[in-house]
Amino acid sequence: MALAEDEVIQVRIHARGGQGGVTAGQLLVQAWDGPAKCFPKFGAERQGSPTEAFAQMSKDKDLIRTNAQVYTPRYVLVLDDTLLFDVCVTSGLSAGGWVILNTTKSFDEIKKVIGRSDLNYAKVDATGIALEILGRPITNTAILGAFIKVSGILSLAAIERAIKQQFRGALVESNINVVKAVFDKVEIAKCDIAYNYQKAQGEKLKWSHIEPNYPGADDIALAGVWYVPGGSAKVQTGTWGVYKIKFLKENCINCQACYFSCPDMCIKREKDDKGIWHIVGSDHIHCKGCRICAEVCPGKKGNKARVAVMGVPTEEVTTV
Ligand code: SF4
Ligand code: SF4
Repeated sequence: MALAEDEVIQVRIHARGGQGGVTAGQLLVQAWDGPAKCFPKFGAERQGSPTEAFAQMSKDKDLIRTNAQVYTPRYVLVLDDTLLFDVCVTSGLSAGGWVILNTTKSFDEIKKVIGRSDLNYAKVDATGIALEILGRPITNTAILGAFIKVSGILSLAAIERAIKQQFRGALVESNINVVKAVFDKVEIAKCDIAYNYQKAQGEKLKWSHIEPNYPGADDIALAGVWYVPGGSAKVQTGTWGVYKIKFLKENCINCQACYFSCPDMCIKREKDDKGIWHIVGSDHIHCKGCRICAEVCPGKKGNKARVAVMGVPTEEVTTV
């Protein structure tokens, strides 16, 4: 599969504690030849509880800067089909996306449980194959055999290389054999809908544009700190700052990192009619000049010389 310059391959892995879902994510990013990131979400983890792991792969490191969970996956890997009854594995999965399952169920049974015919499905008895080859029902490497078969974005050789980095001793060869066996045996049921990456991303607001869900959040975004009569409006906490913030709109990629990093909520933003926030400046009355916002700002193309929020000496900034 050819990957567009502005595309991120987003994978969400559903497993149960102890099944190795996190390792599956690690193997994916180790196998990817380019910028990639993976991380887990355990919640109250214990053996057998539902877990999630996420992997993002791209050609452009700026596109995978966020550590947010994967909300709009193109591929969902399910290591245990009992999870179909516990969690919504298709959450955020757009038409034409893939559900790749470890299961012995038929496609009809799977579609009945999931209730969607606009997705592609792949299934394999990964547990059976893992038991036969590894002697244990650990299906994390097995499911990757199915993933590389249906996605075409990673080669068997790349996964083999990642397994050699991740495992030691006899586990290397046995896990490679599991991947190959699953690759050969995976069954596929495709839908006739083409996946549209841009549409899939547009169906949900990015995490950074979801409103903080507390009263007055909009007011804070527009005004900086929360102006309470007799309170913060009168307390000019920024007067002693040695630095103030200069905003260069032309360098802003609208990632919202500054907004969420400012300890004093001094970054101002405005929402357009599509619900997307835009940074418009900072509140100089309360900005104490810590320059955290300037530190986190990636600027255009990650070029530090082109950051959009800069700390400049207070006397150079006269407007609020
Ligand atoms: S310099 Fe510090 S206080 Fe001022 S806007 Fe940036 S992060 Fe907030
Ligand atoms: S000013 Fe920098 S950190 Fe803030 S949204 Fe723009 S690019 Fe991101």
